[in-house]
Amino acid sequence: MQELIVAETAAQVRAQVAEWKREGLTVGLVPTMGYLHEGHASLIDKAVSLCDRVVASDFVNPTQFAPGEDLESYPRDFAHDCALLQAHGCHMVFYPAVSEMYAPDANTFVEIQSDMTAQLCGRTRPTHFRGVCTVVAKLFNIVTPDMAFFGQKDAQQLAVIRHMARDLSYDIKIIGCPIVREVDGLAKSSRNTYLDPQERQAALVLSQAVALGQRMAAQGERAARPVLEAMTAHIAAEPLARIDYVSAVDGETMQPVETLAPGVLVALAVYIGKTRLIDNFIVEGI
Ligand code: AMP
Repeated sequence: MQELIVAETAAQVRAQVAEWKREGLTVGLVPTMGYLHEGHASLIDKAVSLCDRVVASDFVNPTQFAPGEDLESYPRDFAHDCALLQAHGCHMVFYPAVSEMYAPDANTFVEIQSDMTAQLCGRTRPTHFRGVCTVVAKLFNIVTPDMAFFGQKDAQQLAVIRHMARDLSYDIKIIGCPIVREVDGLAKSSRNTYLDPQERQAALVLSQAVALGQRMAAQGERAARPVLEAMTAHIAAEPLARIDYVSAVDGETMQPVETLAPGVLVALAVYIGKTRLIDNFIVEGI
């Protein structure tokens, strides 16, 4: 197995990628905020299967956190991340300091000027996708990958990145990857580590609501409202859960829909205690 290259500067990444490109190799990028788990690993696996060289970024991006969110407490374990990346055949990890990514007076942002970033997670996190788009655009510019890999777990983020890549003419194929779950159904997330044992149990209402909605859609229910109501009722029965949203939206535009046509995204965000968790499913054809 090859040694994982650890790059802390953009210059180091650019030099290595230039060398790979001179050799005619294709490059995949997997952006992450670290504290890696099997969800991230599945993205690395997919990238390794499609690209000659794979770069993961490991950066807790401050511009996508609002004041009062969990930037300081976000879990970190770089040694563990490197072991996981190495085991999955990743070639290089970009691990920049905040100062490497943002000059003290950095004030240029990439922002989508439609309300696709104001729906769902954008309602409670109005500056979040501006931070995501900005850091992903910077990573695209630094790594210049042929393909970039994102999880369907963050379905709105995936749609936003596709939209941004199209609008800014990035010649990068955006690949969405399925949600990886714990054995009991909970979507894997670095933030699951915040949950105490009681909350961990309560968090199952998210994946249970997703399964319930999926079942109703598969049985032919085409009206969004009864599906969303059933999902909401299931979550509301859990005392530790507080719903942020349970919504059905167009899978590309994020605009609310009333009919569950194939491609519709049914997404939810729920606080379990202080921890905000998300989950979703895409309506399939019958
Ligand atoms: P994060 O480190 O949480 O910013 O996530 C980095 C990437 O991993 C994003 O594209 C996420 O959508 C993806 N990801 C996180 N959790 C999962 C999961 N459980 N299944 C699939 N992809 C995931």
